[in-house]
Amino acid sequence: MTLTPAAFIGHGNPMNAINNNRYTDAWAQLGASMVKPRAVLAISAHWYVDATAVTSMAHPRVIHDFYGFPQELVDFNYPAPGDSALAQHVGDIVEPVWVGLDDETWGIDHGTWSVLAHMFPAADVPVVQLSIDASQPLEYHIDLGARLAPLRGEGVMIVASGNVVHNLRAIDWRAEDEGFDWAQRFDDDAQSLMRRDPSALGELALSDDYRLAAPTPDHFLPLAYFAGLASAAATTPETFVEGCTMGSLSMTSYVVR
Ligand code: ZN
Repeated sequence: MTLTPAAFIGHGNPMNAINNNRYTDAWAQLGASMVKPRAVLAISAHWYVDATAVTSMAHPRVIHDFYGFPQELVDFNYPAPGDSALAQHVGDIVEPVWVGLDDETWGIDHGTWSVLAHMFPAADVPVVQLSIDASQPLEYHIDLGARLAPLRGEGVMIVASGNVVHNLRAIDWRAEDEGFDWAQRFDDDAQSLMRRDPSALGELALSDDYRLAAPTPDHFLPLAYFAGLASAAATTPETFVEGCTMGSLSMTSYVVR
């Protein structure tokens, strides 16, 4: 059986939607290197609510959930269709985990479209987003990620979008292409763990650097979904681009093929 890749993308600055750099080039290469998926199931740090839900509308709106960015980004459109049947199917395959169907609240947020704009620039692959339930422990998200694994055999690409290190209060805008010692160390530790045993992601959350790397867990948790998918896969996840930017953001991204 052919498996569609699943990825974790370090999305970083929303401007990456319209910029080109070595990270966005790697996302584009990943998209171009694979058979076009039937649909994308996206898990974005920016849909962080008190329930697990999927978008089920036929035409998800493009959400510009940020402030203080140039008009070009505010006007950015990524008119990918939705996929109601896939949304319902996701609810079926993860049972007994309950997944709500959202046909009016959310849509496609910038954690998703800033990445997909490079990966599938024609916006012709249907997109369903899965929310991150903020009330659940880390193990819930790893387990739910593993439950999504059968989708890979059905031509669905799962894209989890966050950042392994994401501390906005510590950002140094002058440190363009480097990370603080603790940020680089945490990112390196994450890479070792992902190679060794993705299901043990909880060990990272116990490390001394975790408090600084993930002062709030929203950007870290998409990695838990990928860790679940990677542990369910027969292959070791591969780091396909790595690095820190602005001191306290990691852009490191992973794929299982
Ligand atoms: Zn973000």
